[in-house]
Amino acid sequence: MVVVVEHNATEKNIEDIIKVLHDFGFDVHRSTGVNQTVLGAIGVKPDFDMRQIELLSGVAHVYRITEPYKLASRSFRNEKTIVDVGGVKIGGDDIVVMAGPCSVENEKQIFEIAQRVAKSGAKILRGGAFKPRTSPYAFQGLGEEGLKLMRRAADENGLKMITEAMDISQIELMEKYTDVIQVGARNMQNYNFLRELGKSTKPVMLKRGLSATFEEWLMSAEYILSGGNKNVMMCERGIRTFETATRNTMDISAIPVVHAKSHLPVVADPSHGIGIRDKVIPMARAAVAAGADAIIVEVHNDPDHAKSDGAQSLFPNQFEEMMKQIRLIAEAIGRKVA
Ligand code: PEP
Ligand code: MN
Repeated sequence: MVVVVEHNATEKNIEDIIKVLHDFGFDVHRSTGVNQTVLGAIGVKPDFDMRQIELLSGVAHVYRITEPYKLASRSFRNEKTIVDVGGVKIGGDDIVVMAGPCSVENEKQIFEIAQRVAKSGAKILRGGAFKPRTSPYAFQGLGEEGLKLMRRAADENGLKMITEAMDISQIELMEKYTDVIQVGARNMQNYNFLRELGKSTKPVMLKRGLSATFEEWLMSAEYILSGGNKNVMMCERGIRTFETATRNTMDISAIPVVHAKSHLPVVADPSHGIGIRDKVIPMARAAVAAGADAIIVEVHNDPDHAKSDGAQSLFPNQFEEMMKQIRLIAEAIGRKVA
């Protein structure tokens, strides 16, 4: 931590600041320039509240020089993490595509979509059996029945599967059926849930909260990692901004920034990211160009009658087109779509 002292601070102010830093257990290195004093406070205290120094008399600014997260950071592990989902590797050279409906609705629907997305090159089937809906009156998902249907649809089409768990009580079921557990945007800061996922044997895809900073999002990953589960993927799915023309604002910058801060793979969700069907493909192209390790996208055989998120779901032929286009983009940046 670096403490910049105010120009007009007295020697007594400076001595008091140094004393407080020592009391908190920091080693202090003082640099006195002609009209500026800077204090370097050395000590690893990831949970230190810098406001305790900011409020002291004579302090102009306090800067953190190490991240508050450790296991998720590049300084802990420089080499990229590759999450192995039953042989499908996410975080390596190849870009993985996860596709499927927002929700599993019935047997015919999930089997039809699974077949179509597998044929176009998806490796992982997405779909929700437990749905976090804004309205309690909206379709909430088929529950365990949905997980069973999805497992069969995935297996019969050579796909792995990803589905969302909404709370601790569903983790046991997830262990039984799915290959990857999705944590939804609304649950990104459900810390008890994240702690339990740290004990899971399944990889976890952690969606970014609607208003979460990169640091908050990585701190949430830290909860899972510190529980012992090393297989965590970060998923950018759009954030809430002042813009109303799109459902969310897809933060493409999350992809290179999180890659620089962390060794964890970054997945991009252009469907929730923009929320408008005909703009999903350009967002998918942008995400691949920016370095996403995987794309997760909503595809429906009959989006106009989907029980959730039909307006942002691609028709199967649009998905086929998206795959064609992202293959070209991947090639342009020296990667390929797995
Ligand atoms: C979903 O993937 O369908 C979903 C509900 O995602 P999010 O948590 O990002 O809104
Ligand atoms: Mn959805």
